[in-house]
Amino acid sequence: MEKKSTAENAEINRDELVSFIDELLNTNRYKDYSCNGLQVQGAQVINKVGLLVDASLQGYRLALEKKCQLIAVHHGIIWDGIRSVSGSSYNHVKFLLDNNLNLYASHLPLDLHPEIGNNAQLASMLNLTGLKPFGNYKGTDIGFEGNPDKSTDLDSIVQTLSEKLDTQCTVLPFGKKTISKVAVVSGGAADLLTEAIKKGIDCYITGEPVHYNYHEAQENGINVVYAGHYHTEKPGIQALGAVLQERFGIQTEFIDIPTPI
Ligand SMILES: [Zn+2]
Repeated sequence: MEKKSTAENAEINRDELVSFIDELLNTNRYKDYSCNGLQVQGAQVINKVGLLVDASLQGYRLALEKKCQLIAVHHGIIWDGIRSVSGSSYNHVKFLLDNNLNLYASHLPLDLHPEIGNNAQLASMLNLTGLKPFGNYKGTDIGFEGNPDKSTDLDSIVQTLSEKLDTQCTVLPFGKKTISKVAVVSGGAADLLTEAIKKGIDCYITGEPVHYNYHEAQENGINVVYAGHYHTEKPGIQALGAVLQERFGIQTEFIDIPTPI
């Protein structure tokens, strides 16, 4: 009987998979303090990819149980290069090497990708149109601004994000009731509130709140929605999994370890 390539038995060479993801996400194009790409090398043959927002020992153990050979994450373990492999870094590297697990990380490239990136996915969830780059981080725009449907108000934005991301939003309701300009930057981008104010955004959406945004938002009459660092950074890694599954027929699984932050 002819061997068919199905999700159960499809496999791919690791280097081929890594090159594909590097190219898809333009991994080497952006300045980032994350070392994006293959951070720890493991097995040569991949038939299942585990998808995590955060590199963690808990996540590695689950990926191993689920028989993954490669773990793709948004927040990896090597930032600004290797300083030492001791303590927590040692525990991570040892676990990965002992278990022949590959760790692939993609930080900014997975935030800003125009289709599968966290921010493109968030903009699509909110049905934003007329998208323009927004959110300058070290010379690169990582988010988007755009226009929602006419009937959109703050409550409907919060409801959509809560339902689609399975999150609880923190809201600073200091702006217009009817929203015509929205900007989104996933994760920890509270500092970009200043850019949102300058650009006349009615509702700024990011992941993680900071206390000092409160009066800045109130004094400038802008709505801010914090939908969670973790939860706003799920969509990109999930979309990457879907692309890999479609392209190579390999199995992928999103391993959900939500944080309340
Ligand atoms: Zn992040």
